[in-house]
Amino acid sequence: MPRGMALQTHVEMENVTIGGAALGFGIETNSHRVGLFQESVLEYEIVDCTGKVHVVTEKSDAELFFAIPWSVGTLGFLVSVKVRLMRVKPYVHVVYEATDLAAELQHRMTELACMGADAPIFLEATMFSADRAVIQAGWYTGATFCPILLHIVCFVPAPYFIVVSIVFVYLCSGGEFCNTFEQMPLRRCRIGGK
Ligand SMILES: Cc1cc2nc3c(=O)[nH]c(=O)nc-3n(C[C@H](O)[C@H](O)[C@H](O)COP(=O)(O)OP(=O)(O)OC[C@H]3O[C@@H](n4cnc5c(N)ncnc54)[C@H](O)[C@@H]3O)c2cc1C
Repeated sequence: MPRGMALQTHVEMENVTIGGAALGFGIETNSHRVGLFQESVLEYEIVDCTGKVHVVTEKSDAELFFAIPWSVGTLGFLVSVKVRLMRVKPYVHVVYEATDLAAELQHRMTELACMGADAPIFLEATMFSADRAVIQAGWYTGATFCPILLHIVCFVPAPYFIVVSIVFVYLCSGGEFCNTFEQMPLRRCRIGGK
């Protein structure tokens, strides 16, 4: 982030490791645009059960390269990975949109995901019941309107971050999610380039 770059497929949860995202599973809220984590990998370095080191690219060994994702450690131990980065901006402008029916949620998510170049960079929904959901759609932005509020949200412990953010926005909007938005730092607690 200090250099304005981030992993192409953002790993959102701090506990998830690159090994787990690459050899386990890695779908993130920008995957509708950039694909799964494995699709950002250019090179794997693995150690097999005999202790031999293999540097694997699509060119060097296509069969092994495409077998490694989801192999969950059965083909070897991953010791390094070369991945694509992408240019990013420091904040994300998030728009919250409530839906009242599962079909409405599906329709709206499809509509947003298919907006081409204008599609949200980040797109996900939180279900509150079988019918009610809140869509969160995010676009990069270079500036924020309220840095103090952003810092308050930054101190929320990671497991509660999403829920607290949604409740916070719900209260700020007077109990209605429609047309509600906020701006949050792309990576929490990294404001200022540290
Ligand atoms: C609350 C919660 C939310 C989640 N949300 C998402 C989500 O939004 N998107 C998503 O894609 N996934 C999600 N997951 C699943 C999670 O991302 C995957 O299970 C991921 O594989 C976990 O990564 P980890 O670093 O914890 O790996 P681990 O659980 O430690 O490992 C996963 C597998 O990969 C193997 N492995 C890990 N590192 C290496 C290595 N270096 N070499 C060889 N094998 C290795 C392990 O042996 C294991 O089989 C979620 C999980 C939880 C608990």
